Amino acid sequence: RRRLNRGSCRALAPGLSILLCSWFACQISWRHSHDTGSLAFVDQEDHQIRLDPVTGPEREQLPKDIVPVRYDLELELNPERSSSFQGRLAVSVQVPLAAHDAVAFYAISLNARNLSIAKESVIFRSLEGSDEEFLLQEIIEDRHREVVTLKFSTPLPAGKGLLSLSYAGRLSADMAGLYRSEHKGPTGKVEVMAMTQFEAIDARRMLPCWDEPSKKAIFSLALIIPEHLTAVSNMPASSEAAAGKGKRQVRFLDTPKMSTYLLALAVGQFDSIQQVSQSGTLIRVLTARGQSEGGRFALDVAVRALDFYGQYFEVPYPLPKLDMLAAPDFAAGAMENWGLVIYREVDLLCNATTVGVARKMRIATVVAHELAHMWFGNLVTMEWWDQLWLNEGFANWMQTHAVDVLFPEWDIWDQYIVQEQARALSLDALRSSHPIEVPIRRAQEVDEVFDAISYSKGGSVVRMISAFLGPDLFRSGLALYMKRHAYSNTGTADLWKCWEEVSGRPISAIMDSWTSQTGFPVLVVDSTGSSLRGFGSLDLKQHWFLADGSVEAGDEQKLWQIPLLPGSTSGALAVSSQPELFQSSQGRWTAPSGAAWLKLNFGQVAPYRVLYASAELRSALVAAVRSGEMGAKDRIGLLLDSMALARQGSLPSSEVVSLISAFRGEVSPHVWEALSSVVVGLHRSAAFLSPGAAWAQRFETAVAEMLVRPALTRFGWAARVDESDMERQRRSLVVGLASRFLRHDPAVLGEARARFEAWLHAPEAAEALPDDLKGSVFRLVLANAK
Ligand SMILES: [Zn+2]
Repeated sequence: RRRLNRGSCRALAPGLSILLCSWFACQISWRHSHDTGSLAFVDQEDHQIRLDPVTGPEREQLPKDIVPVRYDLELELNPERSSSFQGRLAVSVQVPLAAHDAVAFYAISLNARNLSIAKESVIFRSLEGSDEEFLLQEIIEDRHREVVTLKFSTPLPAGKGLLSLSYAGRLSADMAGLYRSEHKGPTGKVEVMAMTQFEAIDARRMLPCWDEPSKKAIFSLALIIPEHLTAVSNMPASSEAAAGKGKRQVRFLDTPKMSTYLLALAVGQFDSIQQVSQSGTLIRVLTARGQSEGGRFALDVAVRALDFYGQYFEVPYPLPKLDMLAAPDFAAGAMENWGLVIYREVDLLCNATTVGVARKMRIATVVAHELAHMWFGNLVTMEWWDQLWLNEGFANWMQTHAVDVLFPEWDIWDQYIVQEQARALSLDALRSSHPIEVPIRRAQEVDEVFDAISYSKGGSVVRMISAFLGPDLFRSGLALYMKRHAYSNTGTADLWKCWEEVSGRPISAIMDSWTSQTGFPVLVVDSTGSSLRGFGSLDLKQHWFLADGSVEAGDEQKLWQIPLLPGSTSGALAVSSQPELFQSSQGRWTAPSGAAWLKLNFGQVAPYRVLYASAELRSALVAAVRSGEMGAKDRIGLLLDSMALARQGSLPSSEVVSLISAFRGEVSPHVWEALSSVVVGLHRSAAFLSPGAAWAQRFETAVAEMLVRPALTRFGWAARVDESDMERQRRSLVVGLASRFLRHDPAVLGEARARFEAWLHAPEAAEALPDDLKGSVFRLVLANAK
């Protein structure tokens, strides 16, 4: 799944109450007691119930004994007329041999929510030759756990069986489960769609099922819908036939073995565009009527990304087609349903002639993110929701790598540091943060970890591993992982194992401190007693970095295995062939000699901060920024680290201001984005803490005259015909800063008003006011409105 943009993720809203949920009896099963002839409830303390040592007893899960193999599901719906739907389900299951004579299986438990199962329709039939039918005795519904237990009057025989039932459900209105949504069509008339959003646990609102990621099965779906509507699902349609009274039945090919949360369908009136990838997969963009041309850019990205991933993972895309649907109403940014990825319109569609670069970058990364999941997540799936980070953290890394390959001119890894890594370090600097790997007891809790820790810190940790291993070993470990675990489920340890096997390096020992504890360290570097030239030995310390600078007893116990990664003008300064790790709370370290300046965490590869305690080290770094010797990633890292350290009180604010002054000649748009976040952050703090204070006014004037005005003069307002995406992006950021720091400047205001007027008269003509200048121009005009 792709989160919504910054901070707007609905997963953040419920807060971090994950651990408050109580523990409920899990893994129930029913057994027959010969003594009484009645059914006895057996809890997990009973020795008859096998506890899976991997999953542990604390999770609230369905019994592990009877498992689904294949779902045959027929749904009848008419979203234009009715908010209810009918379902007919036949599930092939495997019943294990009872462990001993006194134990037999009398019941099947599945997840269901808001579904009414017709009691008389429930039949269990043995598929082991006898063809015997078993009748239902009772349905027990546990609404809290969202579990229905179908209890039969005689024990179910071991081997293959078929559970059949009919039920009714409702199309929801809350964009979860199978839901109904309305939008205006091209003629202005309301049009209706029905579609699904299941991750994490809403498949159970469409069908009774084993709604856990490890209960993979084949799905065979048929839909009965009004004749004039179209239906799509994970797989292509295999047949269509009239089904009486203005209805038709659309039947889809069987899916591969997959998890319930990846099942998907959509019913409505769609327009589409399509293209076949080099490897022969048909890729379509589906939209509400009249919108499909907006999908050209995303379609091009998808075609190229799908071919790239097939080669990268050494496993071809496993399905015969890929549909990408732009949904008028969608709760997340996008969802990686296998073969039918659903997006919010804004994350898939754009007007190619007016779209700003930032929006194109967003669409490309969202598409690349979802398509990475077709392998990582869908083909190989996390075993349980506490491994969510594995899914999302990896996709967060992979989206960036793929976009870097497809659009090298964007320098997207530089942007990664300003956006993803910065977001991770910001949330993870709170005492209330959580480890990447967080225990999830009830699946209902998982929505709370769809956050910047799972996505952005997860991705930052994966980036650190890729730097450890280098691109070739990193990729071959992943290819091994895909082949070894295809169509099954894994945990973090399985991935570490593949990288350990290809590299011979102790990945899991190194990574544990990053995945299993909350937060990240600050590395304090001091050159006391040694000369900077040649560096000699430096004092190093590490401690938990907290945004508020608070310290509590026991904090000092937390330590990380920090890769030092020294670098300077000539690039990374390798001391040995393997990255050096700093593991203790303090120590001395002999730095490589001969460089005029030294930066640790070179390339900003690892998610930690560095505090240069000596003024000498700091001024050498500022000089390297000013002279342009330091690369963009490190300029961004140094700036954001300094800002966070100043906020926390461990670096004087004056140091940040003097560092900012070194960026006068800055050319990289990604560094401009970092600069913008720092100066706007300081400006807002000043306005909040000391409104109207003289120092705040001096700061504003200094930024305006020292940084913004020279840049605006250099880069201008008007796009050149042949300019690159990055030049355009840089202009958009600089004009954004001008709208704040030069908001009363007559020349700036005049330019903004002229462009605003031109746009008012001809909104379709993009030259006067391109999309990526609109926000800034509107701000200027409104702030000065009479
Ligand atoms: Zn995702």
